[in-house]
Amino acid sequence: MQYKAVRGFKDILPHQVGTWNRAESEAKRIFGLFGFQEIRVPVIEKAELFARGIGQDTDIVSKEMYTFQDRKGTYVAMRPEATASVLRAYIEHKLYEVYPVQKLFTIGPMFRYERPQKGRSRQFHQINAEIIGDPGPKSDSELIFMVMWFFSCLGLRDLILNINSLGCPRCRGPFRAELKDYLKGYFAHLCPDCQRRMETNPLRVFDCKVETCHEAVKDAPSMPDFLCDNCTDHFETLTLYLKGLDIDFVVNPHLMRGLDYYTRTTFEVQTQELGAQNAIVGGGRYDGLIKELGGPDNPAIGFAIGTERIVELSGEHPTQGEKGPDIFLAPLGKEAEDKSFIWLQELRKGGLSCEMEYRSLGLKAQMRRADRLKARKVLIVGEDELTKGKGILRDMVSKEQRELPLDHVVDELIRLRE
Ligand SMILES: [Zn+2]
Ligand SMILES: [Zn+2]
Repeated sequence: MQYKAVRGFKDILPHQVGTWNRAESEAKRIFGLFGFQEIRVPVIEKAELFARGIGQDTDIVSKEMYTFQDRKGTYVAMRPEATASVLRAYIEHKLYEVYPVQKLFTIGPMFRYERPQKGRSRQFHQINAEIIGDPGPKSDSELIFMVMWFFSCLGLRDLILNINSLGCPRCRGPFRAELKDYLKGYFAHLCPDCQRRMETNPLRVFDCKVETCHEAVKDAPSMPDFLCDNCTDHFETLTLYLKGLDIDFVVNPHLMRGLDYYTRTTFEVQTQELGAQNAIVGGGRYDGLIKELGGPDNPAIGFAIGTERIVELSGEHPTQGEKGPDIFLAPLGKEAEDKSFIWLQELRKGGLSCEMEYRSLGLKAQMRRADRLKARKVLIVGEDELTKGKGILRDMVSKEQRELPLDHVVDELIRLRE
């Protein structure tokens, strides 16, 4: 029986890992400059947390969540996104008592039971960041500035930043009513889900992937026309800051992000390069969610970057080890092999990457191996060299060879690199 990965789950192979590591380490470096701290939360939570945090009525919760009962009968779910988990931890550990504004990021796998198809896996990865405790709009601008700078550090180009305001519960009420009225005229064109959503949360129709639904909302009323004074002020200040920071953006009144907890600022960055699945980050403000989850009434804003997408866009980067070892040891004969094996470990301890072949091979075969590994230097030690106390050090780039005393060979090689 030959095993294969579960459908919808993918391996990230050694030659791909370099690009992943670069994206993640750049995120850590840049987010650190903005005062973000990393938090690591479990991949499993009580299913109820997501139902509450994301909304029972969303596709994510009703159709796409990996939910199961554990042996004691508790309903648990593999996290479909990170925000609910991060907030659960923030509330559970009373992080708001430590410092009033918490900036947190987390990197890791998420799980959704979607039909595996182009570009969609059941396990996928996100880089998430949240600023909790500040109502904005400085935090909103800072978060957007940070993510745009992160993308530019990865070399991503031709990005389009869409922003919008979803208003607050006060100004969204009249908008929702108006939208509902508008959608009634298109009822027959809506998919069954949207026909139901029209009653429960008409804003979600904007998120629907069905073409006819997409068409139906084309001329729908837009939220910016309904914003109350405070929401207008918030949004205008955000746009002023973004201009001051030289960030190009498009106000997209149909960028609605239908998750229940979003308020005011919402944003998305798109690229032309990836076709239909073209958003590489989505985010926004969710001022009511922490209270909804049983915490204090603290505002927050966050984003989720699709790691697969930015990895695909950021070009290949060498994986550790792909650059080839600093030194390849090529011993000939038992005594040299035994000595080289000890040197090998000591050289690594000394900070040099090195390799040697454990099967006894002739010099030619060992040189071929060193070549294949892209080793920069080869130390050849045979019986003659042991007797003389001098090995042969060959530079694989310049092809030059020279003798190297063997009595302090490890120190000698470490010194040579410096
Ligand atoms: Zn408002
Ligand atoms: Zn629909």
